[in-house]
Amino acid sequence: MNLKKLNEKRVLVKDVFNLKSKRVEVAGWVHNTRGLGKIRFLLLRDVSGIIQITAVKGKVDDKIFKSMDNVSRESVVYVKGFVKDSKQAPGGREIVPEEFEVLSFAEELVIDVSEHSKTELPKRLDWRCLDLHRTRTQAIFKIQSTIGSAFKNYFVDKGFIDVQLPSLISASSEGGTELFEVKYFEKKIYLAQSPQLYKQMLACAMENIVTITPVWRAEKHNTVRHLNECRQMDIEMAFADAKIVLKEMEGVVKYIVGEVIKKNKAELDLLGVKLKVPKTKYMTFKEVAELMKKHKVKIGDDDLTGEAERKLDELFSDTLVFVYDWPMKGKPFYIMPKQGQESLRTSSKRGQSKAEKADAELSEGFDAIYKGMEISSGGQRIHIPELLEKRLKANGLNPKDFKNYIDSFKFGAPPHAGWSIGIERFTQALLGLPNIREAVLFPRDKDRLTP
Ligand code: ATP
Ligand code: MG
Repeated sequence: MNLKKLNEKRVLVKDVFNLKSKRVEVAGWVHNTRGLGKIRFLLLRDVSGIIQITAVKGKVDDKIFKSMDNVSRESVVYVKGFVKDSKQAPGGREIVPEEFEVLSFAEELVIDVSEHSKTELPKRLDWRCLDLHRTRTQAIFKIQSTIGSAFKNYFVDKGFIDVQLPSLISASSEGGTELFEVKYFEKKIYLAQSPQLYKQMLACAMENIVTITPVWRAEKHNTVRHLNECRQMDIEMAFADAKIVLKEMEGVVKYIVGEVIKKNKAELDLLGVKLKVPKTKYMTFKEVAELMKKHKVKIGDDDLTGEAERKLDELFSDTLVFVYDWPMKGKPFYIMPKQGQESLRTSSKRGQSKAEKADAELSEGFDAIYKGMEISSGGQRIHIPELLEKRLKANGLNPKDFKNYIDSFKFGAPPHAGWSIGIERFTQALLGLPNIREAVLFPRDKDRLTP
């Protein structure tokens, strides 16, 4: 097979349905074959679609007829032939072969690759290479491609700078313990659990930045919405507070969903997903707590439960719910207290009114809930070194361990804010996938490192 020639001449299947040209060359995988007396049907699939190849004994070369009879499913074939309108063929067209070549024979398939595969997810993931032949699996990642590029384009078009951040870090970025250790020459270092500190340094110098970057979390739990390696869609903005960056999230999520509806109609139909551009709702943590109490749904003191997140979806369907004024206890040390700089002066609680006291417990942090799941967290960050030290101590952390971080705000740091949306989590929520592992090409969890 002359690949140069094939590349020049090859027509994608989706275009065969639109082309006037009568003779075409196509290449792809054998989706299915069927024999009926003197007729052989072969469904040829490429990344763009499926078309029927039809051969009638006596009317095509005998060798072609025989090859079509023998070729196994998922083998890779090349076909040159005439395009014909045909009422019975899927999509109303078929190709009558003049040349037929098997480029690669597939062995007996180890998993069911049909659209509604009967193979369970773990086995499908063991054979992800083959699972990716499935049109349903491909549909998820074609949609994820739209999500990622729409996200980047939206912000790059607004003048945000697209940045690449390190994955190896020398110390914990959030003070948590859920880090993977890495041997780095003679030292012990870690895989980044978030791009947080770098995003902030950049915002304090280059203002508005955007990135999609992998993060690792050594969480031992095995849930349907956590991975040990995931990718985050992040922004950080200078001269911004929580409300400003939430407006940006509102804008980008609406844009992403709109783009998916526009560009992935075929994939959404295949997956049976009906999408609407979401509405938005802004609620304080306290308002959510009161609402949940009314509905007898449990909620934590400083975090929402999964049950509460699902209830929000039930009450406000197709709505991106922003929960702000989050209790400080439930947010990392670097999130700005609601009282901002004021909170430096109010360490002694005497003289504070009840409302002021309540406010003193709140932060400029938020979460976004979509389709019953947390898709994002963020907030305004602390850009005042003194306040950062105070918050570190309040969280039982030693400011000495965060010297570089604190120092980075000593040479002209504007107020800044940002957030992070997990791309796999977002894909899962958007498409209503039961398990996040469906939304990542090669999942990394506690028990899975291959393929
Ligand atoms: P959760 O409460 O769901 O465990 P988190 O609050 O620990 O998440 P953040 O640190 O706020 O997560 O990360 C920002 C976003 O990244 C989350 O809102 C989510 O979309 C995604 N994300 C975080 N952890 C994971 C994970 N383990 N697997 C997949 N996505 C994740
Ligand atoms: Mg979070």
